Amino acid sequence: MDRVDVVVIGAGVVGLAVARALALQGREVMLLEAADAIGTGTSSRNSEVIHAGLYYPQGSLKARLCVQGRDQLYAYCAERGIGHQRCGKLIVATSEAQVAYLHRIMAQGVANGVNDLSLISGEQARALEPRLACVAAVQSPSTGIVDSHALMLALLGDLEHAGGLLALKSAINRVFPSVKRSQAAIVVVADDGTELAANTVVNAAGLHAPALARRFEGLDPRQVPPAYFAKGSYFTLSGRSPFGRLIYPVPEAAGLGVHLTIDLGGQAKFGPDVQWVAWAEDLVVDPARGDAFYAEVRKYWPALPDGALVPGYAGIRPKISGPDEPAADFLIQGPADHGVPGLVNLFGIESPGLTSCLAIGDHVAALLSRA
Ligand SMILES: Cc1cc2nc3c(=O)[nH]c(=O)nc-3n(C[C@H](O)[C@H](O)[C@H](O)COP(=O)(O)OP(=O)(O)OC[C@H]3O[C@@H](n4cnc5c(N)ncnc54)[C@H](O)[C@@H]3O)c2cc1C
Repeated sequence: MDRVDVVVIGAGVVGLAVARALALQGREVMLLEAADAIGTGTSSRNSEVIHAGLYYPQGSLKARLCVQGRDQLYAYCAERGIGHQRCGKLIVATSEAQVAYLHRIMAQGVANGVNDLSLISGEQARALEPRLACVAAVQSPSTGIVDSHALMLALLGDLEHAGGLLALKSAINRVFPSVKRSQAAIVVVADDGTELAANTVVNAAGLHAPALARRFEGLDPRQVPPAYFAKGSYFTLSGRSPFGRLIYPVPEAAGLGVHLTIDLGGQAKFGPDVQWVAWAEDLVVDPARGDAFYAEVRKYWPALPDGALVPGYAGIRPKISGPDEPAADFLIQGPADHGVPGLVNLFGIESPGLTSCLAIGDHVAALLSRA
């Protein structure tokens, strides 16, 4: 049986960042990916927004890793020439009743260490974005956008430069503790039966992380959270973006509301909405969902023309809390949490997982150094 120091399962942006962080510590890392390319899962089906860190409860992993990861990501993008833009964002109240929410989000942001927010009037917002309809807004200058594919290629480059290896088409089916004490602690078994022994295994399988963890022999299944899938569909806008900043409405229960984001090419898209689905491969955009977008978007952009929205793409949020529950925090479990030496599970790495990827990498590396 081949042996390696560390196996990371899943080459999305999080698995790549974790593998990179461990390789930069001098560890021998093999990154195993089921698909035939990196980043084909949720990491290429999101809004590509660098979040400032406003929305998450104070002290949560989401709040801490987002604020830390945001700063790390801006610095990394600048250093490595990865396309990004600190375009800023406006969270808009479209009725007086929503203004109280803006005060709450400001307070939450300040509690999380986001110190550049300002509450502006509808007139001030329209001076920035003349086509916008709102009664007030929170301005977040440190929100931005990033080329997630270029980011993932840079992370892979760092991993390989530090001696790490990527193996594609390597779906892991089962993981079990090694019986021989003298050997590495954990054995991973691929779908084709190939076995690989490792001292450390990191499960960064995204939407499939809970299902995979349930197939880990020796891990108490009560440590594995349930998996829920919340699909988000996007509709792109034909023609030029009416706004230069990202525009977010007051959020809904399971997402951040049908917001407008722009990509680095200046193309605008609206979404994602929230649709709870039964399985993780349900990625087709139903054109009929666009009907509901018109009403939502016209609350803050009344001039949206009929027929301007075109079905785009969909991503699925890897939820570990259900439709009627408060949003769960990132759940990053190391040996001290579940009692299995050398094993780390990453569950529920939904938004702001892209923003937080470098901080998550450091967090996992620190957690393993303490184990
Ligand atoms: C609609 C939507 C919008 C979002 N917008 C933002 C945003 O604007 N900003 C932000 O910060 N975050 C955003 N996010 C969150 C962000 O996209 C995710 O947190 C991040 O991409 C998760 O990366 P990952 O590597 O954990 O998962 P993934 O990208 O899903 O990667 C997991 C990988 O594991 C592989 N895999 C699965 N099972 C196995 C197995 N058994 N063996 C081997 N490999 C396996 C998969 O093929 C996949 O490549 C958004 C998410 C969604 C759904």
